[in-house]
Amino acid sequence: MRVLRLTLALSLLAGPALIAQGRGGRGGGGEPPPPLNLPPDTPRITQLKDEAIREVDKLKDFSQQMVDQIFSYGELGFQEVETSRYLINVLKKHGFRVEEGVAGIPTAFMATWGNGKPVIALGSDIDGIPQSSQKPGVAYRDPLVDGAPGHGEGHNSGQAVNITAAIVLKSIMEREKIPGTIRIWPGVAEELVGTKAYFIRAGLFKDVDVALFTHVGRNLSVSWGDGSGTGLVSVQYNFKGESAHAAGGPWRGKSALDAVELMNIGWNFRREHLPLSHRSHYVIKDGGDQPNVVPPTASVWYYFRQVTYPGVKEIWAIADKIAQGAALMTDTTLLPTRVLGSAWPRHFNRAVAEVTWANIQRVGLPEWSEADQTFARAVQKELGVNETGLTTRLGQLGGPVNPETNTGGGSDDIGDISWNVPTITLSYPSNIPGLPGHNWADAMAMATPIAHKGVTAGAKVQAMTLVDLLLKPEVIQASWDYFRNVQTRTVKYEPLIRTQDQPAIELNREIMAKYREQMRKYYFDPTRYKSLLEQLGIQYPTVRK
Ligand SMILES: [Zn+2]
Repeated sequence: MRVLRLTLALSLLAGPALIAQGRGGRGGGGEPPPPLNLPPDTPRITQLKDEAIREVDKLKDFSQQMVDQIFSYGELGFQEVETSRYLINVLKKHGFRVEEGVAGIPTAFMATWGNGKPVIALGSDIDGIPQSSQKPGVAYRDPLVDGAPGHGEGHNSGQAVNITAAIVLKSIMEREKIPGTIRIWPGVAEELVGTKAYFIRAGLFKDVDVALFTHVGRNLSVSWGDGSGTGLVSVQYNFKGESAHAAGGPWRGKSALDAVELMNIGWNFRREHLPLSHRSHYVIKDGGDQPNVVPPTASVWYYFRQVTYPGVKEIWAIADKIAQGAALMTDTTLLPTRVLGSAWPRHFNRAVAEVTWANIQRVGLPEWSEADQTFARAVQKELGVNETGLTTRLGQLGGPVNPETNTGGGSDDIGDISWNVPTITLSYPSNIPGLPGHNWADAMAMATPIAHKGVTAGAKVQAMTLVDLLLKPEVIQASWDYFRNVQTRTVKYEPLIRTQDQPAIELNREIMAKYREQMRKYYFDPTRYKSLLEQLGIQYPTVRK
């Protein structure tokens, strides 16, 4: 791969140092550096951007339907069957060629339209959160299907941002005879950070010039440099013991559950002596069958997070040792571990972020209605956080976070793509500030006018940035200059997934099998209703009296 070879050569020249250098950006407390010298918009580019904004507005109902449709599917990672089929149909109808089941992942696809350079890949996640089923537009806990998954992260909205922008650009490119290729791809199983490293391994990004990723947020924003948050590796530890009658002959048993518990105790003691920027968490996936049988098998599933790639590897190695110790203490066997997911820490491209930021300032935030603000404040009140309502002011262009002072946070496997091609994440304002994340409360706004308006604002920015990338080769050149000479000068991408690891496509199968039939009744039917709120008969906003 072109990128990796060059990076390898540069890192050999620079010596073996692999640790990301803090670049003293705003996160480090310094003044923001002066912007790069990128070309301004020509009159033709301004005109095409104006047109793109108008056309995105005209597609408002189409964008809203996509948001509501995917919200109603509420599918978990690797099981996004309906979502994937729906998106593929939409894309095919709009002239995209779609390669399905890419990278050995049934719900993944790569859709392509156009020809030649540049190749711009538009991505966004599509999976939901367990137990976050929630009626949209209702400002208190009220699940559609009790216990079922839902879009408690807002991943139902990003594809609408990208597809709307792509459709608008497609007609402009056809008419103006602008060369270029647009790709659309889904972040399958992002909540499991389960696929993007495999997309890279499968070579899906090897001819891509720029990746424009998008994620739901509370403001319209973009950043460059080392991102906040962490990279992670998701590992399952399986222990094998021997069963016995738990009362009749417990001394004959070897408890795999004891091994799991001792591993967890060992890890929880060790936490105190790990760097402050680390975060980790686990769930016990198999704790045995019933109390009178000494558990012959048990397994525990960990997420190990750190702010640098070497940091992730370090704590992973510590956990492996603790697991071996637990097996030794219990006379059980630690089976070969399984990596279920992974994510590199994120690093975003400066040139692409700067042009995106200029477009964000042009678009500005949506105009929220009184109903939107009433709803947002009611949700905030319900959660006991500041009743500030929806965001009404843009922030600023985000700069690099200093890994030395980064205290960690969430991860996204877009990190892997960001270390292979120039990448940014556009955040668009489709949700309410102050929510806990990965929770039913984060689903409340996600099929309401708040989500719909945020998506339209995001699609405008995405469409304008596409115009920049298609008509200003200097921006693409600058993005690769930054990628090669700054970002990857001393850091070489090596995947966290090992040769033997394969996508964990069986995850969440049982949960979806349990709830899918009950959820099906609420699938959005745009042939009969204008919105999911209308279909569900929900008065917006529904707030506590
Ligand atoms: Zn997410």
